[in-house]
Amino acid sequence: MNRMDTALDYLKGIGPNRAQLLREELGLQTYHDLLHLFPNRYVDRSQFHPLNALPKNSAEIQIKGRVTQFKSIAQKRGSRLVATLEDSNGQIELVWFRGQKWIQEQIRVNKEYVVFGRLNWYGNKANIPHPELTLVENFEQNAHLGLHPIYPSTEKLTQRGISQKVIKQAQQQLYNTLSGGFSETLPPNLIQSIGLTDKNTAYRAIHFPENHQQLSAAQLRLKFEELFYIQLQLLKKKQLRQQQIKGYVFEKVGTIFNTFFKHSLPFALTNAQKKVLKEIRQDLGTGIQMNRLLQGDVGSGKTIIALMSMLIGVDNGFQVCLMAPTEILAQQHFHSLSELLEGSEVRIALLTGSTKKADRTPLHDALQTGELHILVGTHAVLEDKVQFANLGLAIIDEQHRFGVAQRAKLWKKNKLPPHVLVMTATPIPRTLAMSLYGDLDVSIIDELPPGRKPVKTVWRKDSNRLKVFQFIKEEIKKGRQVYVVYPLIEESETLDYKDLMDGYESLQRSFPAPEYQISIVHGRMKPDAKEYEMQRFQKKQTQILIATTVIEVGVNIPNASVMIIESAERFGLSQLHQLRGRVGRGNTQSFCILMSGYKLSEESRTRLDTMVRTHDGFEIAEVDLRLRGPGDLMGTQQSGILQLNIANLVKDQDVLILSRNWAEALLEKDPHLQLPEHQGVKASFEALTQNKALWKYIS
Ligand code: ADP
Ligand code: MG
Repeated sequence: MNRMDTALDYLKGIGPNRAQLLREELGLQTYHDLLHLFPNRYVDRSQFHPLNALPKNSAEIQIKGRVTQFKSIAQKRGSRLVATLEDSNGQIELVWFRGQKWIQEQIRVNKEYVVFGRLNWYGNKANIPHPELTLVENFEQNAHLGLHPIYPSTEKLTQRGISQKVIKQAQQQLYNTLSGGFSETLPPNLIQSIGLTDKNTAYRAIHFPENHQQLSAAQLRLKFEELFYIQLQLLKKKQLRQQQIKGYVFEKVGTIFNTFFKHSLPFALTNAQKKVLKEIRQDLGTGIQMNRLLQGDVGSGKTIIALMSMLIGVDNGFQVCLMAPTEILAQQHFHSLSELLEGSEVRIALLTGSTKKADRTPLHDALQTGELHILVGTHAVLEDKVQFANLGLAIIDEQHRFGVAQRAKLWKKNKLPPHVLVMTATPIPRTLAMSLYGDLDVSIIDELPPGRKPVKTVWRKDSNRLKVFQFIKEEIKKGRQVYVVYPLIEESETLDYKDLMDGYESLQRSFPAPEYQISIVHGRMKPDAKEYEMQRFQKKQTQILIATTVIEVGVNIPNASVMIIESAERFGLSQLHQLRGRVGRGNTQSFCILMSGYKLSEESRTRLDTMVRTHDGFEIAEVDLRLRGPGDLMGTQQSGILQLNIANLVKDQDVLILSRNWAEALLEKDPHLQLPEHQGVKASFEALTQNKALWKYIS
């Protein structure tokens, strides 16, 4: 057995009890796990905080002062011991819940101590529970100076006696036990070219840095290594897929496609659309399964690409399906595709959760016999009862709402896996795409159809509402339509619905019938009621559509030219961008009005300012990534891969790109990791892939 796999129970100074706590609280099982518990940050222990200028967050700090008195204070269970520590500027309380007798015996009143611990704030008062105390004379003798690691920990660990000091000692013990015998896992030429620190030095310096320079060299080395192996796995996976996963061959572009192209295409494709279509056609003809991500900002025209790709499938005798994340969007796709296909022999149907039972049976049959060519739907498409005769291509719209498990389900519907095209309007920053979709091919529509005018965006405070209403009236007079969107957050759902209904009433007062007609759509309505209201708006029977975020994704009503977003400060950036993308789809000037209150957090301000400043989806996504962190951006389902140990996708973009380039170069030179200098890489790679943790997030 590898020494690194030794259970922590066997580490001197840890033992079974502490090992169990570490397992429960931090998930640490083995030597390897503890070694890779890297400090969150480092405190410079040559510095002392004056007591009148303590940092206002709860963080580890070092202070110096005299203990002036002890008090024992009774509480619900037992008592707590409180000491007052004073320096010339002020005072603070030190608190113990355990070992009180011992502490009181050890600590001498009126002696000067160096105190190290985690600040706890209660309103304006701070204390430090279970601090480490060292007599000043001992502290200086021990030469504690230098960077002191702060490890991730939990309250329970601290309370049960596993302090920072204990963790640090355990790290020291572990490092000595392993006696610096870490074998190198990166090839020598790489280490040399980049000038990376060797592995032994890196492990020592990450836990016990002597200075900042040593520390940053260690961090670079370990971040690089972490990202390098992720990239290697992704690239390897792509390589495997290209070599092994056979796909159906769509060899021809046939009459259906050509007829559509000549007679039914309602506009000339943009150059970006042409380029992307060509990439897809090429993929479909190779005999290798396509796995392509199609990125295109809202309104860039992805639907027509989906349709034309599907027609190639149909031309080659296959069935195809298009899945959307919401009922409304599926319906919308179905309607617009049906319209585009009018007069053609292609048979298309819609399947969603609210498709009636009586309609399902014939639909299932038509799918199984192959009479039905295109199936548009929601998650309902994935049900076991839905069986295709020969599904050749699956298109998934707005992919960020679909889980990986669902994609996998599609694969099971066939002998060979169907080609997969994933369409997303969420512009994914390059660095994130590299990590998340490193194994997918990516096509980008980076051009909007001609004649689009950028949406004019303004930010208004609630007190300007009357002016905003006046503006809406003028736009409606010109024949335009208006969206009004309210936030809906699960946790405050009831309140949010109340806001929506209040807003609805107030709009009805300001925009009275019969002159004005208002549609309302929200998640508590039945699907057919929603559909009915959407239809009224689409047919211009109503001028205003008031809604929760159900319209966020994909709705296409070119005549709507004003988007009002209520409580805009409560929306995330990518949501705001999506919502704004609902207008500006025709040739008229469109407007987006962000309504907000007065009391805003710094972050909300940044979001709203960003929306006013730019229309560039990629720029917006970068800001979003910075504000929220990558995990959040992609939703929890996909965040697994982003739970990095030391690297940070936002801050370490340079290292990410560097690691990507090196991983590519290495596989190009030695695709099967056979060269002698790559045996270390191969061993680490195999160890990683045996533990399939990463793969399940990306397959
Ligand atoms: P998205 O990429 O957001 O799904 P859509 O496919 O809904 O965008 O297209 C947005 C609008 O642009 C639709 O009304 C569509 O008909 C129109 N459109 C798409 N491509 C073009 C083009 N090449 N020229 C003109 N209009 C286009
Ligand atoms: Mg769309």
